[in-house]
Amino acid sequence: MEIEGTMLTGRAFEPIEGRVVIEDGEITTVEEAATDSDAIVLPAFVNAHTHIGDSIAKEAGAGLSLDELVAPPDGLKHRLLRQASRDEKVDAMARSLQFMEQSGTGAFIEFREGGVEGVETLEDALEGLAIESVVLGRETVDAMHASDGFGASGARDGDFDAERNAARRADKLFGIHAGERDSADINPAMDLDPDFLVHMVHPEPLHYQRLDDEATPVVVCPRSNLVTGVGVPPIRELLDRTTVALGTDNVFLNSPSMFREMEFASKLADVSAREVLGMATWAGADIAGLNTGEIAEGKDARLLVLDGDSDNLAGAQDVVRAVVRRAGVDDVREVVLASE
Ligand SMILES: [Zn+2]
Repeated sequence: MEIEGTMLTGRAFEPIEGRVVIEDGEITTVEEAATDSDAIVLPAFVNAHTHIGDSIAKEAGAGLSLDELVAPPDGLKHRLLRQASRDEKVDAMARSLQFMEQSGTGAFIEFREGGVEGVETLEDALEGLAIESVVLGRETVDAMHASDGFGASGARDGDFDAERNAARRADKLFGIHAGERDSADINPAMDLDPDFLVHMVHPEPLHYQRLDDEATPVVVCPRSNLVTGVGVPPIRELLDRTTVALGTDNVFLNSPSMFREMEFASKLADVSAREVLGMATWAGADIAGLNTGEIAEGKDARLLVLDGDSDNLAGAQDVVRAVVRRAGVDDVREVVLASE
């Protein structure tokens, strides 16, 4: 299979006219060539933080505080999840996953509620889809063993030493929410030596020093933070210290569209469009250990093809800025998610 157009290549997204050749699900050739294609070809997105499970509760909970919305065990989302039937949850998640594929997401890192049962429910929802999942179970060590790792709610909710050690022994990922409401849970989260932190809206100088030293990757979810009223993450300061990836967080608060998250992050923070596109692609792949998120030979072929001549994008003077700040699901021509 070959795709022609303006390719955004490598980690700097250097625009090159030419073609990508795909064989057996792998990018085998990236070459400059004359083409009359108006396609823009970029890596499919890696959504680095989702809670797909709350697809049953889209736009519920207007006006509630963060704790009232999501704190375990009795926050609104947990009550709605308990009330929904298994079939309802599977169907709602499948719809969100289909939308994620349609809007160019090739892989995602999910914090999955509900223990082993929750992990199995998501596996059912993924049936027949090509999106690559990295599922982190929650609540029990068994959920970690049944999935790709453990996703901890946050150090204020308890001590996660046992889960962290179990994940390390199993050679699986351990991620944890930190610094969402305030800075109090950042040090105890970092003391666990996690594979990544989620949110980091409220780092203080000491935490920046630790990031300088430890370079723990961070996933930011700026739209979610705005909706829950906790502030917005200092994306520039985080990017200056470590790998930063982008996630859309709870489906019930925000559409899981990486186009929307990129535009918001780009206009919110003092970061370049290239940096934001990296946060939306290879940074999440690095955190999850996936061989994707970049147009380069040897990478898994997970690509997004946009119509560069859509009414929305035609005439753009800077293709990377246009993709990050302007493009949307209506500009998607094809999502290539070649299976492994
Ligand atoms: Zn989260």
